[in-house]
Amino acid sequence: MDDGVLIVGGGLTGLSTALHLPASASWQLFEKDARPGGHARTECRDGFYFDKTGHWLHLRDPGIMSLVGELFPGDRSSHELTKVDRKARIYSSGVLTRYPFQANLFGLPPSVISECLLGFIEAQQDARSTEPAQNFADFCDKRFGKGISRHFMLPYNRKLWGVDPSEITAAWCSRFVPIPKLADVVKGAVGDTPPELGYNAHFLYPREGGIETLVHRIVEKLPKERLHKGAELQQVELQTKTAVIGGDRHRYSAMVATLPLPELCRRIIDLPSHLVPFVDALRCTPVRYLNVATKVPPRSDYHWLYVPEEKYPFYRVGVYSNAVPSMAPPGCGSFYVELSERGSIDVAKLVPDVLDALVAAGVLHSKEDLLFADLREIEYAYVVFDDNYYPALAALMPFLEQHGIYPRGRYGSWTYNSMEDCLMLGRDVAAQLTSPSGMLKKK
Ligand SMILES: Cc1cc2nc3c(=O)[nH]c(=O)nc-3n(C[C@H](O)[C@H](O)[C@H](O)COP(=O)(O)OP(=O)(O)OC[C@H]3O[C@@H](n4cnc5c(N)ncnc54)[C@H](O)[C@@H]3O)c2cc1C
Repeated sequence: MDDGVLIVGGGLTGLSTALHLPASASWQLFEKDARPGGHARTECRDGFYFDKTGHWLHLRDPGIMSLVGELFPGDRSSHELTKVDRKARIYSSGVLTRYPFQANLFGLPPSVISECLLGFIEAQQDARSTEPAQNFADFCDKRFGKGISRHFMLPYNRKLWGVDPSEITAAWCSRFVPIPKLADVVKGAVGDTPPELGYNAHFLYPREGGIETLVHRIVEKLPKERLHKGAELQQVELQTKTAVIGGDRHRYSAMVATLPLPELCRRIIDLPSHLVPFVDALRCTPVRYLNVATKVPPRSDYHWLYVPEEKYPFYRVGVYSNAVPSMAPPGCGSFYVELSERGSIDVAKLVPDVLDALVAAGVLHSKEDLLFADLREIEYAYVVFDDNYYPALAALMPFLEQHGIYPRGRYGSWTYNSMEDCLMLGRDVAAQLTSPSGMLKKK
């Protein structure tokens, strides 16, 4: 039997694809886990809610804004989706400063401010500053100068990506790394604070239930009989356009594959051997994090904190309950702590060490605040944009599309993106499939 479009994966990309395909279209969605949502799921323990670390919704696309508006109807008074003005801080050199570092040097020790300011001015005067950067470390040096690079950009990104910034190409970062003007850097250094910079000056978030509420709202709009949970894609045969899912064989005219690209490719039994090295070249780093619950309110009012210095075993700490109080019981706090260690860890030692560091960094009043700290891991977190990245994608993507497979989403497209991007990718692939030249079969 031909099932039309097979959507593999029930994260936001797969769900958005399903939502945007016309009701008359033949499609089925298969999710390997018991619950849809993928990285946008929320865990609840004893009245504390935790996403897979902070999942704040930043919207810029008018179509997605109106979709989210439809999913969360009601006016401000019905409080389904809350708009939060970002309070992001950085902890370094023993002080808290505002984000982004490069435009908010005020409050840092004078020696650090002068090193950063002089470095920024020198970088601007250097004729090479406008030349294309060789890699992300070079991008930081050329655009921000040595001081800002040394005190924030390089150590923070080394902890975040789990690889040295010199291994990462510069191409990924233009949208996500705000570059201020000299005037803003100087104003930020003397405390004449510039307006919030960057792509995420405010964000939206469900008033109740964590980010998974967004997932539920989409699922409610889809026909239940076409959503298959606990259904893992095991094998694909390109020649016959057949997929084995949960032991059953399905023919497809098109497949929207949102599982990680290497996982997809390794399931294709007739993938030509010359493509295998490209699959093997794809790199991604995992992330470990702690869900932390405290029996007292958070010590500070920020939503998240960047911690660049190597001596701290985490690079970002977020406070869900500061953004949305329902994320913790009254008088308590719910946090996420993103850990820099990717290698082997001694779990028994890890939590006490992290708690000490959280107290030292001023996140917690004391270790006694703790109710529980649960360690979690995201296997696929950050795709590494190294030199092999673009050749691998250039070889794999057109080949798969020629065979009716459309890899989409953060890990399907093998990229760095946001929830909104995934909603857009789902919408756009649905439009592509239903266009006159698309591959969609009517039900
Ligand atoms: C640490 C971290 C923090 C983030 N913070 C933010 C943020 O603040 N704001 C923001 O907008 N975005 C954030 N993101 C990005 C956001 O999580 C993703 O862009 C988005 O959730 C990805 O959705 P997806 O559907 O493409 O992939 P996924 O969510 O990974 O969905 C893929 C689905 O496929 C399923 N699957 C896998 N293998 C198979 C198989 N063989 N068969 C069937 N199903 C399979 C999985 O179980 C999963 O449900 C963050 C991401 C990370 C890692």
